[in-house]
Amino acid sequence: MYPVMKKILLVDDDRLQFRIMQGFLAALPAGGYELAWASNYAEGLAMLLSGDYAAGLLDYQLGERDGLQLIREATARGSRTPIIFLTAETAERVDLAAMDAGALDYLIKGEITARILERSLRYALKLGGTLEALRLLTTRDQLTGLWNRRELDRFLKDECERAMRFGHSLGLVMVDLDHFKRINDTHGHPVGDIVLREVARRFNRQVRSVDRVARFGGEEFVLILLQTDLTSAMDVARRVCAAVARDPFFTEEQHPLTITASAGVAVLPNHAADARVLLAMADRALYAAKLQGRNRVIAASDLGRVA
Ligand code: GH3
Ligand code: MG
Ligand code: MG
Repeated sequence: MYPVMKKILLVDDDRLQFRIMQGFLAALPAGGYELAWASNYAEGLAMLLSGDYAAGLLDYQLGERDGLQLIREATARGSRTPIIFLTAETAERVDLAAMDAGALDYLIKGEITARILERSLRYALKLGGTLEALRLLTTRDQLTGLWNRRELDRFLKDECERAMRFGHSLGLVMVDLDHFKRINDTHGHPVGDIVLREVARRFNRQVRSVDRVARFGGEEFVLILLQTDLTSAMDVARRVCAAVARDPFFTEEQHPLTITASAGVAVLPNHAADARVLLAMADRALYAAKLQGRNRVIAASDLGRVA
């Protein structure tokens, strides 16, 4: 079997630099690296965001915008590709700025040899992998892989502030499985876990990639829907509840389980102007849905009409 080639991206406006780096990588005894080239900022950004590359080598000078801006923009837009910064200068200022922007290493062009490049790539890949594992541990719920409570709080706060500033609406759906305790009591905790994982999969299929699905706790989930008004948020809430109730869940022995869910919906700015109140309003609407008999969706706007 051939070893898998690791794809490395070079972002540099100088074609000669690409040839030089290609030469270095080809000279490595172990091989294993394949170099792709982006000659400008926009192309480099798009290729980093594709997530196709194991690591990126970024030049400091990229025409009007520099490599520092590129690291910051790519990171802000979700790129996790480990970055090694390249510069022609020995300026300490650039070195520190590159590290602050998120680069994992820094190489001075005139000093690069095949050995130095290989070592830097190997370390950046290793450190990048460790950071990614750490990031998953701190942001994801272990059982379902959904965003965890901590990440939900952070994201919701940021997005509420952004929505208020730009005059966008933001929908929040809080979903709780009905009588879930019975599933555990009747079939055991491991079966409950299987159901929670499958619920997470079904929810993820119902939202757009910009939206977030988080596990709020136990058998309670929160969906954050960007630029979504009340009507659309209600539609999504009904869809996710239907996605739970429509098809049965199966135990490992293929025993079918029918489960329903209740949801509360609150929308900014209709029902709240910040994250804390938005969550509280959705929670109250969810509570009302439970009181009214479960397996239904209630909007925070309807709370006044609930006795
Ligand atoms: P309601 O319709 O009022 O929501 O009833 P419920 O039974 O769903 O609500 P309750 O809050 O009484 O019980 C929630 C249950 O969820 C109890 C707990 O055992 C179960 N649960 C919470 N976290 C997990 C988990 O990680 N795995 C499993 N299997 N069960 C969990
Ligand atoms: Mg419940
Ligand atoms: Mg609950």
